[in-house]
Amino acid sequence: MWTLLTDGPVPLWRPSPTAVSDVLLFSTRRGGVSPPPYDTLNLGRSTPDRPEAVTANRERLLHSAGLAPDRLATAGQVHGARVVEVDAPGHVPECDALVTRARGLALAVTTADCMALLYLAPGAVAAAHAGWRGVDAGMCEAALRAVCEASGHAPEAVTVHLGPAIRGCCYEVGDEVADRFPIEAVDRSRGRARLDLPTVARLRLAQCGLPAAHVHDVGACTACEPAWYYSHRRDEGRTGRLWAVAARR
Ligand SMILES: [Zn+2]
Repeated sequence: MWTLLTDGPVPLWRPSPTAVSDVLLFSTRRGGVSPPPYDTLNLGRSTPDRPEAVTANRERLLHSAGLAPDRLATAGQVHGARVVEVDAPGHVPECDALVTRARGLALAVTTADCMALLYLAPGAVAAAHAGWRGVDAGMCEAALRAVCEASGHAPEAVTVHLGPAIRGCCYEVGDEVADRFPIEAVDRSRGRARLDLPTVARLRLAQCGLPAAHVHDVGACTACEPAWYYSHRRDEGRTGRLWAVAARR
């Protein structure tokens, strides 16, 4: 379903065009202008990178996907589970997911290890950010409910797409975190517990009626692949930010 396209100036994860007519994408760290340690396609305003570089990177990415830079909505991202419906560009503080019915409005969430989830329903799209706190707070389900409400469709009509994130191979957590999640998502076979948030997302979405086959995962681990992804954990905070973007055509 998802392919990392590397033939253009900005490499991007894109779904098969025969499967998805709206715009869904996940960025990588390649194709931008930022210097180390933010090299090169840093999309995060919360980093010490030069703001002009981040702006240039955002424009490159949006242009390469056929989206207008002035039709962009972003979320404040506070590790909660609040979803806000938007119909116009702008920055929405105090929320971790956006949903829209508006055509041509790009919803973007920012990550560097946390999960990004894109939701596609007939007539609506959503983009959500969820690390362990957000998953624990119910973000996966909240965004599913929001996109169902906005579109007027049941979960059976929705697909959910998971982007590059730190995964069970790399995501060591303390027992106080691991114990909050189902045992299927925690590997205790190699010393410290390792948490796989995509597994938790699949379990929680299934509980809400999303068919298992409707979850599509790019499968990439941000911490495993320094040439392609920023990882807050691996780079000890001195790193850039990836984007997940959803827009209705
Ligand atoms: Zn890994």
